Amino acid sequence: MDTIAIIGAGLAGTECTRSYRDSGGTADLILIDPRPERCELPPLSKTLFARELSHTPLPTPEATLMSTGATHIAPGHITLAGGSEQQHRRIDASRIVIATGLRARRPQTPLPGGPVHTIRTAADAAAIRRAAKTNTDIGILGSGYLALEAARSAADAGHQVTVYLRGDQPLAAAHHPAISRALMDRHAAAGVRFVLDADPSDYAAHALWIAAIGAAPVLPELPADWDRDGAGRLRVDAGLHVCAGGTTVPNVWAIGDLAHPATGPMAAWGAQESEAAAASQGAWLGAQLATAETAAETAWIDVPWHWSFQGPERVFTAGRVTGTDTPIVSGDEQSGRFQVLHFIDGVLCGAETLNQPPAHNAARKILALPPASRPTTSDAAGGVLDLRAWVRRLRS
Ligand SMILES: Cc1cc2nc3c(=O)[nH]c(=O)nc-3n(C[C@H](O)[C@H](O)[C@H](O)COP(=O)(O)OP(=O)(O)OC[C@H]3O[C@@H](n4cnc5c(N)ncnc54)[C@H](O)[C@@H]3O)c2cc1C
Repeated sequence: MDTIAIIGAGLAGTECTRSYRDSGGTADLILIDPRPERCELPPLSKTLFARELSHTPLPTPEATLMSTGATHIAPGHITLAGGSEQQHRRIDASRIVIATGLRARRPQTPLPGGPVHTIRTAADAAAIRRAAKTNTDIGILGSGYLALEAARSAADAGHQVTVYLRGDQPLAAAHHPAISRALMDRHAAAGVRFVLDADPSDYAAHALWIAAIGAAPVLPELPADWDRDGAGRLRVDAGLHVCAGGTTVPNVWAIGDLAHPATGPMAAWGAQESEAAAASQGAWLGAQLATAETAAETAWIDVPWHWSFQGPERVFTAGRVTGTDTPIVSGDEQSGRFQVLHFIDGVLCGAETLNQPPAHNAARKILALPPASRPTTSDAAGGVLDLRAWVRRLRS
C-alpha cells in the first residue's frame, strides 16, 4: 500500500496535496493537522483591526484529513496524539512530508500593562480584536513585517500605537535603508509612534501588547540525528529531503517555513519564511511525488519573493536584496513610489519595490532569466531603470 502522510495542513501541506492530485498521484493521502480553522495567514495581520478580519479558508484537500497532531515521526511511520498515552495511534506511511510551520515567539520578560498577544493563527487575531476596544493604547514589540502591518492596521482604525524598534529603523534585515525609512515616515504620518533603539527600560504600560518578535519551528519528536539549523529548522537537500549527517533520509521531506534548504541551487537563500516559498515548495514536491517513477532527480528552484501590505503601502522584494555589492535607488524617494535595484558583479540580482506592484512583477520575470539576459549596472546609471519596459523589450 502506498500511503503518503503530510503533517501540517497549512499553506505548504495543502499546496503539496493539491499539486499531487493535479499531477495524477493516486496514493492514499493523509493530511494531519490539529488546527480547527485552516486559513491563509497573510490576511490576518493586514486586516487585524479592520472592520472585518479577512479570513480566507485554505482549499479542502482531496485527502483524508485527520484533526489531530503528530507527536512522533520516524521513517515509515508517525504517531498521532490521542487523549491519553494508550490512545496514541501509529500510522504507517511509505512517504512522509513534514510541513508543521512555525509558532510565534513570546517575550521572555513581562511587559508593563495589559495582556501580551502574538499573531500566528486566526484564533490569535480574533483574540487581539476582542481585547482591543475603541481608541486602545497598543504597544507593539518588533521591527519586522508583522509589527508594521499590525501597527498600520491599528493606526488606521483609530487606536494609539507605539512600535518599539530594536534598532533605528524597521525591517533592517530585509530592506535597504531607503525603503525602511520611507515606510517608517509614512506610518509615522499616519499616526504610528516609533521608539527607536528600544530596550525594556523604554517600555511604557499599554492596555494591549502585540509581540511580533519572530517565530520558531513547531516539530513533533524526531530522530535525534536529523539535521537542524541554529533556529531548529530541518535542513533539507536540493530535492527538499530531510537530511541526517548531511545524507538524504529516503522518503522523508520537509517543506514550508520549517524547511531550510542547505544544499543545492537554493542553499544561498536558506530558510525563507514566505508565502511564496511555502506555496512553491508544496506545489513542486506534490508534482515530484506524483511522478516519482518517471521524473528525473531534480532540485526545487524558484525566484524568491515576498510581499507585505501595510495599510496602503505595498512593499515587495524579489531575488537577492541583502548582502549585494551594488544597491541603486531608482525613482523618486520622496514620492513613496520607487525601487532599490541590487547588483552582484554588475548584474541585476534583486529588486525591492515600494508601491510599484507592476515593477515587482517585471523584476520577477527578469530574475528568472539567465544573468546574461538581465540588466547591468550601466542600464541603471542615472538612477532610472524601467523594469516593465525591459520585459516588453525582451518580448518584442
Ligand atoms: C500573520 C501572518 C502574516 C503573514 N504575512 C505574510 C505576507 O504578507 N507575505 C508573505 O510572503 N508571507 C507572510 N506570512 C508567512 C506565510 O504565511 C508563511 O510563510 C506560510 O504560511 C508558511 O506555510 P507553512 O505551511 O510552512 O506553515 P503554516 O501555514 O504555519 O502551516 C503549518 C501547519 O502545521 C500544523 N501543525 C503544527 N504542528 C503540527 C503537528 N504536530 N501535527 C500536525 N500538524 C501540525 C499547524 O496547525 C499549521 O496548520 C505571514 C505569516 C503570518 C503568521
